[in-house]
Amino acid sequence: MKSVSGFLFDSQFPRVVFGAGSLRHLEREIDRLGAKRVLILCTPGQRASAAAVHAIIGERCVGVFDKAVMHVPIETARVVRDVARELRADCAIAIGGGSTTGLGKAIALESALPILAVPTTYSGSEMTPIYGITENGIKKTGRDTRVLPKTVIYDPELMLSLPANQSVTSGINAIAHAAEGLYAQEANPIMSLLAEEGIRALAQSLPMIVADPVDVAARSDALYGAWLCGVVLGNVGMSLHHKLCHTLGGSYNLPHAEIHTIVLPHALAYNAAAAPDAMRCIARALGTDDAAMGMYELAHQLGAPVALKDIGMREQELDCCADIASQNAYWNPRPIERDAIRALLDDAYCGRAPAG
Ligand code: NAD
Repeated sequence: MKSVSGFLFDSQFPRVVFGAGSLRHLEREIDRLGAKRVLILCTPGQRASAAAVHAIIGERCVGVFDKAVMHVPIETARVVRDVARELRADCAIAIGGGSTTGLGKAIALESALPILAVPTTYSGSEMTPIYGITENGIKKTGRDTRVLPKTVIYDPELMLSLPANQSVTSGINAIAHAAEGLYAQEANPIMSLLAEEGIRALAQSLPMIVADPVDVAARSDALYGAWLCGVVLGNVGMSLHHKLCHTLGGSYNLPHAEIHTIVLPHALAYNAAAAPDAMRCIARALGTDDAAMGMYELAHQLGAPVALKDIGMREQELDCCADIASQNAYWNPRPIERDAIRALLDDAYCGRAPAG
């Protein structure tokens, strides 16, 4: 066993209610928050889920805002803040993925409105004090404890409608948080335990979900893994992988979870020699002996995209992307080398196996 070195542990966690059918505890959880005027948030595609929430809480619902979209445009944030103010909402329920939770965070950032999150993807946003708002095409992110949801209800039954292909990329998005958490500058023994367990739970359950998307036990295991990975994301800093994904998503408007799925094996290969202990944990959790290849093979095996060219990236943009990802110094276990990152992007663009 590796000996423990110095660390700082200073964490905040939302209250978690977990289990199949746990949406039935919604009223109890709203009572606990002392809320009487609830605004429900969702995407246009998840109005039925919002209606189910409305049916449970009845007259305590003062409105449904169904315009959540990816990356929280400032215009949408302004509208929903006005709606929450005009309705005198004292709580928002965000039912959906990272986009809907992100919209709730945009309200809380300004007003400290308590957010009760009901996640329906594996993105993990509900466990983090990280917010993101996009203005003039640029997504700005920050950390503020006001945006951390007060309560999170994880109900695996709500995951049954998430198509298998989206479940895979969303699950690998979660794995990416844990993988980078293992070699984070602020890594600590608790987060590393959660990270390895989170990767293990997702790597074992995603193939079962692909085989049978309505397997509630597999959905429970995946959601459990996503919770742990989200906690890691919220508690330690991220490095090269998240920087690359942020650049690709923000500057080239590529789909969030798919980018994470494609880039992760290559980011791990880039950092492998500089973070051997983390790589051992990831490989162990994947049941393989090489973290980067293990992630690449998992994506392949589950039918996920492995090439940026297949999700809308254009080859002529790789140089610029390498430039952006090499700017604004940030911590990474291996120094940021522009040419090596350009080569990494080329591998990810073509869908080659990770280098090394
Ligand atoms: P998403 O929330 O955009 O959802 C993608 C699509 O799937 C939407 O159309 C949604 O309606 C649909 N959907 C969600 N759950 C479903 C279900 N159970 N059944 C059927 N359809 C469902 O996608 P996401 O990947 O969860 O979130 C991505 C966004 O979250 C990005 O903007 C990303 O930057 C952000 N994010 C933020 C954090 C953070 O800590 N702040 C963490 C992760 C992701």
